[in-house]
Amino acid sequence: MNSSKFFTLKEARIGNNCPECYSNDSLELTLKQKLIETKFYKAITEETASELLCHNCEMQIFPVRWTDDIERVVDYHLRGLNIKTKSTKLKPIAWALITLGILLLVMVSLWAIGGISVAL
Ligand SMILES: [Zn+2]
Repeated sequence: MNSSKFFTLKEARIGNNCPECYSNDSLELTLKQKLIETKFYKAITEETASELLCHNCEMQIFPVRWTDDIERVVDYHLRGLNIKTKSTKLKPIAWALITLGILLLVMVSLWAIGGISVAL
């Protein structure tokens, strides 16, 4: 079970014209950062995504439709962001497995040492 999802870093209204309906006060920019979650760990990546939604025509404006002006504004917002640094957090089950692994190793070595001393 691996899943990656994006969490929202920032939402901002931008004053550009919508490429679809030309409304100039309905574009909302959402900046997101990617998070990967598995059974064993949770990791924040440095990958970001930008979504542009027009509240007037209720369309998502994909990057291929962005004008130079929109790209400039998105760039500006991205630069001003506090992007969370890359990090990985192990979940309790991962820690449990690691601890179990170490315990097994210790037991096996004790047994091996014990076995040798018995043989002597
Ligand atoms: Zn629109």
